[in-house]
Amino acid sequence: MLGTPWSATAAVEEPWFDHPMRWAQLVLVENDPGRFDPDFWLDYFRRVHADGACLSAGGIVAYYPTQVPLHHRSAWLGDSDPFGYLVRGCRRMGMAVIGRTDPHATWNEVQQAHPDWIAVEPNGKPRRHWSNPDLWVTCALGPYNFDLMTQVHKEIMELYGLDGIFSNRWAGHGTCYCEHCVRNFKAFSGMDLPRTSDRRDPAYRKYAQWQVERLRELWFLWDRTIRAVKPGARYIPNGFPDNIVTGKLADIFFTDHQGRSGAIPPWSNGRRAKELRATMGMKPLGGIFSVGLEEAYRWKDSVQSEAELRIWVAEGIANNMRPWFAKFSGVLYDRRWLDVVERIYNWHYRSQRYLRNTAPLARTALVYSEQTRRVYGGQPWQERSGGHELGMYHALVEARMPFEMVNDRLLDAEHLRPFKLLILPNVAALSEGQCEQLRQFVQGGGSLLATFETSLYDEQGKQRQDFGLADLFGVSLNGRVEGPMKNSYLRLGSDPATGRSHPVLDGLENAYRIINGIYRLNVKPRSDFPSPVTLIPSYPDLPMEHVYPRTPETDTRELYLRELGAGRIAYVPWDIDRTFWEIMNADHGRLLGNVIRWALNEPPVVQVTGRGILDITAWRQKQSLTVHLVNLTNPMMMKGPFRELIPIDAQDVRIRVPQDAKVQAVHLLVADKAPEHTIQDGIVALRVPSILDYEVIALDLSA
Ligand SMILES: [Zn+2]
Repeated sequence: MLGTPWSATAAVEEPWFDHPMRWAQLVLVENDPGRFDPDFWLDYFRRVHADGACLSAGGIVAYYPTQVPLHHRSAWLGDSDPFGYLVRGCRRMGMAVIGRTDPHATWNEVQQAHPDWIAVEPNGKPRRHWSNPDLWVTCALGPYNFDLMTQVHKEIMELYGLDGIFSNRWAGHGTCYCEHCVRNFKAFSGMDLPRTSDRRDPAYRKYAQWQVERLRELWFLWDRTIRAVKPGARYIPNGFPDNIVTGKLADIFFTDHQGRSGAIPPWSNGRRAKELRATMGMKPLGGIFSVGLEEAYRWKDSVQSEAELRIWVAEGIANNMRPWFAKFSGVLYDRRWLDVVERIYNWHYRSQRYLRNTAPLARTALVYSEQTRRVYGGQPWQERSGGHELGMYHALVEARMPFEMVNDRLLDAEHLRPFKLLILPNVAALSEGQCEQLRQFVQGGGSLLATFETSLYDEQGKQRQDFGLADLFGVSLNGRVEGPMKNSYLRLGSDPATGRSHPVLDGLENAYRIINGIYRLNVKPRSDFPSPVTLIPSYPDLPMEHVYPRTPETDTRELYLRELGAGRIAYVPWDIDRTFWEIMNADHGRLLGNVIRWALNEPPVVQVTGRGILDITAWRQKQSLTVHLVNLTNPMMMKGPFRELIPIDAQDVRIRVPQDAKVQAVHLLVADKAPEHTIQDGIVALRVPSILDYEVIALDLSA
């Protein structure tokens, strides 16, 4: 007889979502029951002060005595209920508990009983699992999820009264051609299923839209089902293909970006948090991290280096994510991660009053565009277009600029109010309405930095005659895109009137010229512009005897700077951000940093001076203000992961505090020291003597 461990907490009315600060996830493998030691895990959760747990419940394998027909019990389950045992143990420690299900694969028995529940390949054959040929891939948008998994979720909630259900791999793996998908897509669109995944294919675009609709329906269904059992509970999907929908529907969400692979930069974890915060606001966001390697060859039982784990998790915490460790298999083969996570979590527990952020303080925002990602492309200069955003992101980190991200479908005054500067890294597809919102932002005193084809296409990806923001840029399109350019340069000039160089050339005073990008747009100015950066056209790079500039100087500007009221506009007609991402040329990084500072036109909320690469974020809490400094200096000499942590030396920090606040005390939360500081004209100045991986400066405030 199963107990109802939830009856004791069922009366609690306050939503639970914001309570857990540290999550623990244990994903059982099928032969864990009877072999793994649940008390070891419960004791570990206690030691690390985890206050939320995500535990394997059902789906491909049930870890409790399910009664739902065709819901496969672990072959090792016998009479046991390891899931229930863990749930009760976590409840006794006051933890929030959510159950994990995974509906993406199933067994021969299910395939035989309901062949229509299985995903179908383009050739009409049912789809075997790509990794485990004993299993079948299920159709995510058909009755397997809508019927069977709904029953499973209901049963789990009725038996255990959880705070929520979290499903992994619930949204499908590519286009499915089963009878349900064929029929339902036809009813939705009048079309046949697309045969390609080309974004320009109208059927594929419609399919992408249908998929979002269908998944939203599924999210609603499962959420409704579990709330009917326990009103405070939530269904939490692992990922959703549209951030706006996620921001609207989710009371709590988790990012499944568990670690680096290849040359993914270490700030990538923070970027995912910023992207979701743009649509979710300050609703709680958990950052799932793997204790193992995240590479294509999927060593799921491996353990990552301590240095890599610490930096990855610090990036998440610095960006307001609540850490969530994920461990697969209840039996451990390599225990090295246990102490590392315990130390990180114990620091987090000690510091948590400073980690309940109420608002970010950044005044700069990087605009990202899911719309452009969907509709832009097809021309050679539009390839690898993700590099624009990545390059700009990296330039912001190198410039030590605290910044947020903004979703281009949320450009209304309310969402833009906190910001002085918006950066548009080739945000090519913008509607008339979005352009108008940006105009309003500038009229209100805001500044813009935009690159390349920003606003040259409408929201459907149709090219305009001229930029939608031509009036703000002060330039118009004038002909074709040039490139890929080889051996082209930029002439850096001083102002003929004063002889002084423009502030965007700070640190480049001795450079007569720097390298150009790879593609440039021909544009013509509508008015006078300063000319700190002009074009030196491509010239032969071979034979060596002919490598000399044919046109050493032009007056073709490659950077357009203007002031409009209290705002400043910087428009770059070439792919500076994507080229920076590809080549990582230091001059491009410096130029971008200078242009960002010029356009911001006010001192950043935090200025940190010293050597090294720091990712900086700044936050307000109820009674305090924090600045997070993540030390990314340690080299990706070849590529990640980090091998060791190497400290950087003294950093001088200046923090602007709100006018209504009085600073009572200053702490360094990682060094656990109270540094000497001065306060003058609303600026707190202090020195952080050294940073190994991470430091958090906390200012206690009284109103
Ligand atoms: Zn299907």
